[in-house]
Amino acid sequence: MSKVTVKDLDVKGKHVIVRVDFNVPHKGDTITDDNRIRAALPTINYLTENGAKVLLLSHLGKIKTDEDKVKNDMSIVAKRLAELTSAPVKFVNATRGPELEEAVKAQENGSIVLMQNTRYEKGETKNDPELGKYWASLGDAFVEDAFGSVHRAHASTVGIPSNMKEVAVGFLVEKELNVLGKALNDPQRPFVAILGGAKVSDKIGVIENLLKIADKVLIGGGMSYTFAAANGGKIGTSLLEADKEDLAKEFMEKGKGKLFLPVDTVIANDFDNPTDIKTVKAGEIPDGYMGLDIGPATVAEFQKELAGAKTVFWNGPMGVFEKPEFAKGTEEICKTLAELDGATTIIGGGDSASAAKNLGYADKFSHISTGGGASLEYMEGKELPGVAIIPEK
Ligand code: AMP
Repeated sequence: MSKVTVKDLDVKGKHVIVRVDFNVPHKGDTITDDNRIRAALPTINYLTENGAKVLLLSHLGKIKTDEDKVKNDMSIVAKRLAELTSAPVKFVNATRGPELEEAVKAQENGSIVLMQNTRYEKGETKNDPELGKYWASLGDAFVEDAFGSVHRAHASTVGIPSNMKEVAVGFLVEKELNVLGKALNDPQRPFVAILGGAKVSDKIGVIENLLKIADKVLIGGGMSYTFAAANGGKIGTSLLEADKEDLAKEFMEKGKGKLFLPVDTVIANDFDNPTDIKTVKAGEIPDGYMGLDIGPATVAEFQKELAGAKTVFWNGPMGVFEKPEFAKGTEEICKTLAELDGATTIIGGGDSASAAKNLGYADKFSHISTGGGASLEYMEGKELPGVAIIPEK
């Protein structure tokens, strides 16, 4: 079964609302990474080339105060979008009202209107029924292409399509669902998952589900110290979620033979100003030291477990990769995955995606998801509200 896609819609001369993910990193007016805008282009260009009148909606940043509004003004995205597409782009500095409605009414076939930040409206994140209905009234059809936001039931992701008949997923969401869906439901085996990052509590669901689905689950990063502590190891001042030790024990029990933990760790005497850095065996961290990366023996062990893998899903760094002293484990794992022969290699967004890009390996991966939170929830086996609302063909 597959979802109705933008190609199934008759779009010529129609007003098509597209929820895109233009939540780009930016400093002031400068967009520091325009990847999310580029990722939305296949759907946008398809629609304009096929004569649709396109209305784009996205959020940008978190909005709590008026100052946040100034910092997250969507006009910076409109400027960049106009450089990336040949279709005319009009920015409307409103999220409702006559200015927006008239701009939409005046649209010619093949043109684009980009509306101001959806989160300027308080009702957006609450999926306010009136707001979803109002936005839906601006179009004839709706296309869901904001993969980074489909795990959230907001007015723009769920409210609009609940009020429309003609709804579909765009090319980006279609691609994400195809790649992640294949890994989840019908992976080529062996399927190895590598999970890292700071907290066990953020990854409980995904560890649980992947222990059922994957052939091996390798765990690194800050969360591995809670496992080491649960094993009775000494972890010094490393990250610990004491209330998750029982759960870690349960995972180790269930995952016997398929769950792999670090065998050594890079430690330091201080996080901010590390003057003494060394490598010790896992679970043997002296008092006053903290574990900040996986060690070389763990890298070698993980490389052994990854050899011959046909599907790999990676989410979360192996250490504090933002600091060069503790980036080696993440870099080595990233390089190993990039060089795996004949495997489908998937990065579940977020920090692992940044690591691959910064290291220049981005194009060596089969797929880098544009949605960190959404791809994790999908791999947990959870229903994504913005996807569930789009019918199957
Ligand atoms: P997450 O968002 O859960 O994937 O976590 C990513 C963050 O985990 C990054 O900012 C890393 O610096 C941090 N991290 C990874 N390993 C460790 C560690 N051993 N100690 C503290 N933080 C870590």
